[in-house]
Amino acid sequence: MGHMELEQALHAARALVLADLVAGDVAEADVVSLVEDAVAHRRWWVEQWPEGAGFLPGLIAQDVQDALLERHGRWPLCPVCTDSGDPHALEVEPELGPDPHWACTKQAVLVAPVGSLGSALGG
Ligand SMILES: [Zn+2]
Repeated sequence: MGHMELEQALHAARALVLADLVAGDVAEADVVSLVEDAVAHRRWWVEQWPEGAGFLPGLIAQDVQDALLERHGRWPLCPVCTDSGDPHALEVEPELGPDPHWACTKQAVLVAPVGSLGSALGG
């Protein structure tokens, strides 16, 4: 995979994660900068391991999720378990693989592909 393809894969992953942040109304300037940080870090990573390009959306989603947990709290909140008093965050499945989805691990259901959270949230 050439440099151009890697940049396209990074750009696509960035767009997917940003779409999910927009869907959850958390795409503020400081949050977008977290995405840029994650993309920059994963650019280095994928240059070392180009075969992992297909894993970028799931990895960047998890990077942003971790960064948000420290600064803003849980994201994205599970839209399935809205009745329970303690909202939990969705998790990316597979953690390291292609075609990542947001999953509710309590109900063991896939909620939406990474990048399509808006449809699951009714947006
Ligand atoms: Zn849930």
